[in-house]
Amino acid sequence: MKVTAILNVHRPERILYYLPQKNEEVNRYISSGECPEQLKKYLYAFGTYDEVGVFYLPKDLQQKTGMEYVVGIEFRMDDPRVELPAELPYVVLPECDIVIQDVSYEYQLNEELLEEIIDCVRNIKIVGHDEYRYVEEGLVAAFSAKDKLRVLYEIEAVDADSTCLNPDVSAFTKEELHFKAYHEAITGYYNWTWMWDRLTCYYREGVKDYGFVHFDIKDFKMINELYNHQVANEVLIRVTENIEAHKDWIYFGARCDNDNFALMIKDMPEHETREKLEKFFDEISRLEHDPSYRIYYRCGVVNMRTSMNTGEIVADCAKLAQSMGTGINNTEIMFYTNEMHEDMLWGKHLKAYLDTAIQANEFMIYLQPKMDIHNERICGAEALVRWNYKHRELLAPFRFIPYFETDGSIMKVDDVVLHRVCAKLKEWKEKGMPLYPISVNLSQKHLEQPRLVSHLTGIVDSYGVDHALIEFELTESATVNNQKYLVFVMDELRKRGFRISMDDFGTGYSSFALLNEMPLDTLKIDKSFVDLIAIEEESNKIQIILRHIISMAREMGVNCVAEGTEEFAQILALRELGCEIVQGYYYSKPLPVREFEEKYLK
Ligand code: C2E
Ligand code: MG
Ligand code: MG
Repeated sequence: MKVTAILNVHRPERILYYLPQKNEEVNRYISSGECPEQLKKYLYAFGTYDEVGVFYLPKDLQQKTGMEYVVGIEFRMDDPRVELPAELPYVVLPECDIVIQDVSYEYQLNEELLEEIIDCVRNIKIVGHDEYRYVEEGLVAAFSAKDKLRVLYEIEAVDADSTCLNPDVSAFTKEELHFKAYHEAITGYYNWTWMWDRLTCYYREGVKDYGFVHFDIKDFKMINELYNHQVANEVLIRVTENIEAHKDWIYFGARCDNDNFALMIKDMPEHETREKLEKFFDEISRLEHDPSYRIYYRCGVVNMRTSMNTGEIVADCAKLAQSMGTGINNTEIMFYTNEMHEDMLWGKHLKAYLDTAIQANEFMIYLQPKMDIHNERICGAEALVRWNYKHRELLAPFRFIPYFETDGSIMKVDDVVLHRVCAKLKEWKEKGMPLYPISVNLSQKHLEQPRLVSHLTGIVDSYGVDHALIEFELTESATVNNQKYLVFVMDELRKRGFRISMDDFGTGYSSFALLNEMPLDTLKIDKSFVDLIAIEEESNKIQIILRHIISMAREMGVNCVAEGTEEFAQILALRELGCEIVQGYYYSKPLPVREFEEKYLK
């Protein structure tokens, strides 16, 4: 049987109401998924843990109920909003981690299948986020939803076997050390150090008749989150195998980091390189685990003879070409061009001009309201920077922020934005206008600054603005490095009364693990999730994910804001999922401050 893990979540103590005997209705549920009459009115009471399912009970509960499995419905213990089915017997289910499985094939839930699921769950060995989780025997629940069957099973985290961590270097042979230096752990394939040695060696020897390729997997994080790390690792391994299968034109290949790969290839005319690469990517475009899933790549190519560059620069050029690829669903192969080079020059020019631009007041803020999804009233706003470049042209952030992020000059822009926001809040207060919390974005570079907390507090205090009116938005990617320090900074900011939100949630690699550790007030669910929520073929999976993100956030006292909400259908779906706040074009685009004041503060 084919099972696909979707995600790991934590479940608190719950209460399971069940039908006391196996009657016709129960059988009907097991064979057709039709909800028993007695449970119907308790369905979807508030959007979490309230689906009817078949629950396989742990031994002690089997004795208590006299049944091996039951048909029932579970609720959180402490939720006051739920009307509980007082007429039914119940048992209490313990706290646990669970894995949601998606059995995506034609099925009819019957006793035989139930047995199969239970067996499968008992025997399965899963490798979770931290690679050291496995299944202990646990409770199983099976839910049917449209044409899919979902299975929940409980797992317990157990410690890594520490014997594999041998600190004694002399215990390794030279060959082992050499292997470790030039290979990486997941695929066992060559690493970037290995490729780097080859690039510099070729450069030193004046060899130029080759091409250099850098590529990554689009939405790789989705494979991690929709399936699991094992499935994602298999994709990486398939890539390396395919490199090996094309040694007639690929000289060397390496996995650089995450989902990034580099190739040194035969020097060929552009059309031939393209043809070969297209075929190469096509061969690794299906997920073995779920052939309906298509894998797309974003690839940059540099021809060494035309670029005449050192190894280091050629890698940058290939990455630059690669970054010109869009987010759309297809494989893109971009060849490095002179225009791209010009783009690099544009970045250099911007950096040199930045201080002058700040002095000339060229940076402005636009404000986009955040709306309470229930009463459709404003409850806050986000400040988004715009550059009135030389007072001639309004530049959106994507035209300049990426360049400023590379060397930290983005901090200067962030500071200007915070100053502008505070000045406005001060002015609104003096004029007796309504005040709502305003969020500002903090770049990753900012977070690395040693005196960040006192620096930010200093700016806000210089305007006498109430700290509770400022929310700092961090992006998920900004949170990967040096987490301990980051948690410390976030704690300090919160102690001073500022609010913290996690921007673009769901686009990083470690989203779910992060949630537990970060002291957050708000979680901003990324637009890429919201986009899929009302699309027929996608909505099922996405809704499962969102339902759990939202319920988990709620349990931790964290608000959810859905970003990039453009359509009414999305609002309806988000409401049903329990999301509290939306920000998006459906209500308003980011507005110049004056327009924002007219529309929302009058
Ligand atoms: P973000 O912080 O996630 O901001 C939301 C972006 O989504 C904004 O783009 C906003 O205009 C856009 N958006 C909001 N609703 C919708 C919608 O319904 N549909 C669509 N298609 N887009 C929507 P914007 O203003 O272009 O900003 C892009 C990114 O630039 C921001 O993403 C943020 O990461 C960065 N940014 C903006 N201002 C600043 C700033 O002052 N400092 C830093 N460090 N980054 C900033
Ligand atoms: Mg933001
Ligand atoms: Mg965002």
